Amino acid sequence: MAEAKKIETDIAIIGSGGAGMAAGIEARDKGARAIAFEMAPEPGGTAIISGGGCMIVGSPLQKENGVEDTPDLAFDDWLKWGGSSVDEVWARYYIEHSLHDLYFWAEGLGVKWADVGMREGNSVMRWTRSERNGLGLMTHLIEAFRGRGGEIVANTKATRIKLEGDRVTGIEATNPETGERVEVTSRAVVVATGGFNSNLEMVLEARPDLRNSRIMEGSGPGSTGSGHKLVREAGGYLTHLDHIWFYVYATPDYRDPGQKRGLVFRHVPGYIWVNQQGRRFHNEALSGGNTASPALMAQEPRHAWAIADTAMMTEMEVADPYYREGSRIIREKVEELLANSPFIKKADSLAELAELIDVEAPTFEGTVERYNKAVECGLEEEPEFGKPLDSSKLFDTPPYYAIQIFPLARKNFGGIKTDIRCRVLDKHFEPIEGLFAAGEAAGMAGGHINGGAGLEGTMLGPSIFSGRVAGGWAASESGHGDGFTGKPNRG
Ligand SMILES: Cc1cc2nc3c(=O)[nH]c(=O)nc-3n(C[C@H](O)[C@H](O)[C@H](O)COP(=O)(O)OP(=O)(O)OC[C@H]3O[C@@H](n4cnc5c(N)ncnc54)[C@H](O)[C@@H]3O)c2cc1C
Repeated sequence: MAEAKKIETDIAIIGSGGAGMAAGIEARDKGARAIAFEMAPEPGGTAIISGGGCMIVGSPLQKENGVEDTPDLAFDDWLKWGGSSVDEVWARYYIEHSLHDLYFWAEGLGVKWADVGMREGNSVMRWTRSERNGLGLMTHLIEAFRGRGGEIVANTKATRIKLEGDRVTGIEATNPETGERVEVTSRAVVVATGGFNSNLEMVLEARPDLRNSRIMEGSGPGSTGSGHKLVREAGGYLTHLDHIWFYVYATPDYRDPGQKRGLVFRHVPGYIWVNQQGRRFHNEALSGGNTASPALMAQEPRHAWAIADTAMMTEMEVADPYYREGSRIIREKVEELLANSPFIKKADSLAELAELIDVEAPTFEGTVERYNKAVECGLEEEPEFGKPLDSSKLFDTPPYYAIQIFPLARKNFGGIKTDIRCRVLDKHFEPIEGLFAAGEAAGMAGGHINGGAGLEGTMLGPSIFSGRVAGGWAASESGHGDGFTGKPNRG
């Protein structure tokens, strides 16, 4: 076997997504040498394909929109939504640093915050989107890291965290294509490998209750949980792995040979969801992970059909790189999906559609009829589940469509347990010397910052923020700087 290439650095970062790049920037700013090892050919991770939305409290964009917000109000919303398993110290830490240590910090790197929007569970608008979504945000972070002399070694997958006694001393890595090996010696290692929702086996291991249902993989291609395995082998403690954030407006990707991956689709506002019994079961306007997902999970079997007519489908957007160029939706590709997916049925009448999706026609037709009646009467909300009807229309333009939807595992709210300095803890809650974790690998921050439900923007935001914290303290571990203190929102 050829000898491994040897590399020496202060900090070895595993992964080049939001957390990895933030860690690298912080480490370089403290004067430490930092190299990010990335298994994919290109840097960016899931962060670069994300919506680019971060929960920010007290931002200029909120003020421009007349929104009064405070850390206390945000923390209150966070606890109400996330429940008893929220890591309260980390939640506070993030909320109270989101303005200076994320919003203004990112602006200083060239990021432009474009707009702010409302998301379920928040009492005010906080979901703050960067220009060109995750692509815009990550392009600046990658440039900032490289611009500071940081190096990204692509096509290099970490396969082991090296330990001497109780101390981490570096990593071993391999080029997945060529098998070329790399041996890295470092004073600190930052694990920033993202989540595990593109590894169905791991999802079902964490949620054995879902083994008998079809569940789809729904994160970025690198979210395979490989960092979780490395940390466990090094003695780290993993926590709250069953806290998986599911979305339901997703259908299997028929182009995926294993058909494990799901495609999220949006902008079909007038649609309704019916279960296999032909009945609606939820207010479709509440489509989030804390409302729609439990509603779909309660159906037997655990899937539904999104029903629309042709007029409703004209704006349909598929959140997948194959179906879009930047923010432009490639309509021909969407048509290709509608024509070819075995999970999408089309018929000239509702009775025919009922037959194709195997639901009882009279029940199904009755469901649509009641909905149509509510629209026709000009009601503000339909009476059954309270869906606002302002963006609805009559089901009257055949052909009609039925898109089969299943739960899609999108984000991991549990992961590697760390302390407030992002030091990885063992099962006794003692830090493992030289080992740090940040981002979705660490349940977005600390192990379980969101608890059981997220206010949105509370994945990418905390991933980047905890990356900075990890980078600062890893630099200090290697003899550079005093760790991360940042600047709190409060004066
Ligand atoms: C489509 C989509 C949209 C989203 N939109 C939003 C949003 O708008 N707002 C929000 O808050 N959250 C959003 N999220 C979630 C958010 O993007 C992630 O939680 C966040 O990007 C996690 O950042 P990270 O740096 O921890 O991981 P990632 O960005 O996933 O980066 C991890 C990197 O590590 C690499 N890696 C993994 N294992 C190894 C290994 N062994 N060796 C070397 N490299 C390795 C991976 O290839 C990857 O590049 C979205 C998620 C998806 C899937």
